[in-house]
Amino acid sequence: MKTWIPDARNFAYLNWKQVDALPRESTLLVLPTAAIEQHGHHLPLATDTLINNLLLGHALSRLPPEFPVYALPPVHYGKSNEHIGFPGTLSLGAATFMAVLRDLGASLSSARFRKLVLYNTHGGNSSLIDVMARDLRAEFGLRTFALHGSGGISFEGQSPQERAYGFHAGEVETALLLASVPELVDRTAYTVNYIADIAKPEVLRPENAPAVFAWLTRDIAPSGVLGDPRPATAEKGALWLDQAAKRLAAALEAMSSYPNQPRP
Ligand SMILES: [Zn+2]
Repeated sequence: MKTWIPDARNFAYLNWKQVDALPRESTLLVLPTAAIEQHGHHLPLATDTLINNLLLGHALSRLPPEFPVYALPPVHYGKSNEHIGFPGTLSLGAATFMAVLRDLGASLSSARFRKLVLYNTHGGNSSLIDVMARDLRAEFGLRTFALHGSGGISFEGQSPQERAYGFHAGEVETALLLASVPELVDRTAYTVNYIADIAKPEVLRPENAPAVFAWLTRDIAPSGVLGDPRPATAEKGALWLDQAAKRLAAALEAMSSYPNQPRP
């Protein structure tokens, strides 16, 4: 898989003596989690994994060298059963995904590391990431952080409809890939599907509401796209990448500086 992680920040490029020499109290390890799943007719299965690596790599490149922060090899597979029925989707069950994170946390804890970030770029993993961040804290004493997506940037220039319901393979993901791996985007194969309409706010919504319904992509989007990729450009992707990298770098700096002992 293509990587944007700087070599000097790549944990798996170290040998064990170099790992043993890392300062245990302050070293912050980042575990990327993403997915291998259908992304419509126009984006590759690895879209979430590529975006994770792209954003994290650019964030790590911005960190001052004195911050001891390393990227672990990613967990490529995620909980993707919302995309079952589309060839190429490779999903882990929730229990398997959580067990993988627990086992990696156990390994890091036994090597006496103290700080771990779960950096996730696949929506289907989000609730499991939040559960595991707390469980790793409770079980192993790891100071665990959860970091999601683009660090909360506003994606200026998006339509309100796309901002609310561009969930998957829409403008943002397409723009980020156009800016980084345009050869993997088929611009002749865009399709558009929306799960809901912001002009018709219903009591029951797909996400981000007190009352939600559990959706499967195949119920509502025959092409696999949830959103509109047509307004995506490489320029927007480059702008959003830059903004997200800044936010993520600031979050990593804050995590790196966060005290290991609980605050009084
Ligand atoms: Zn995606």
